[in-house]
Amino acid sequence: MLIQLTVGCSHNQCAFCAMYRDKRYRVRPLDDVLDDVDMAARMVPDARRVFVCDGNALSAGFETFAALCRHIGSRFPRLERISAYVNAKDILRLSEEELRTLRDLGFSLGYLGLESGGAEVLKFVRKGATPDDMVEMAMKARNADIALSVIVLLGAGGQALSDDHVRGTIEVINRMRPKYLSFLTAMIVPATPLMTHVKTGLFQPLTDRAVLREARDTLAGIEMNDTLFRMNHVSNLIGLGGHLPGNKAALLGQLDALIPRASDAVTCICTESEGLML
Ligand code: SF4
Repeated sequence: MLIQLTVGCSHNQCAFCAMYRDKRYRVRPLDDVLDDVDMAARMVPDARRVFVCDGNALSAGFETFAALCRHIGSRFPRLERISAYVNAKDILRLSEEELRTLRDLGFSLGYLGLESGGAEVLKFVRKGATPDDMVEMAMKARNADIALSVIVLLGAGGQALSDDHVRGTIEVINRMRPKYLSFLTAMIVPATPLMTHVKTGLFQPLTDRAVLREARDTLAGIEMNDTLFRMNHVSNLIGLGGHLPGNKAALLGQLDALIPRASDAVTCICTESEGLML
């Protein structure tokens, strides 16, 4: 069940992201959102999972988010989890006690767009957080028993920052130890700063082969105890997935077999129509 608390993204500056460019960020009136919950509960009373939209719903503030979680819990008797996209700033702003309260109210999973653990890459894509911010927020979430699903964007540093991207991402992921980890590919879509950088030559995107090599090199350096890994988003060149560490050798074997057969073309630049789809 999707419940919309905020419209757009309060950050809305990431160089690759066109998701909310045309939406003015705002927090919806809480009463309207609670009415939506009531309506949703009448339509699908057995819903077990609720995702709170949009880009970073925790930006609505602790009191508002907690009130929403409390209401969701009261209306869905079979509720198993509440989740939302999160960013480092929103989690770091909350006290440990507030995070534990949200966890007790059912908020148990945050989707974090880490994109990269490379300091230079994060700065270049204007993520608004440093690698240390990312690790600190992950520790805070973990201490409150809120699981993270962390998203890495292959190719986010282009050719120039690929080494920083791989090295930094390995280090940050190994410190975070997320429950879920996904590799997506940075798609360059119209009306974004990244597309402008491509046009002006400031950003040289990776070829398909280089994207797969980044995936391989990053995965090789990642040491997890118990993480579900996926690389099966529409942006990915291939679909892979497995448990880490158990399936790591097999996943690396698949990537090693694919890299020599991959194209040396750049396919991550979207046309206008494709870009709008993303
Ligand atoms: S990637 Fe996420 S945080 Fe960045 S602008 Fe897009 S929605 Fe906002």
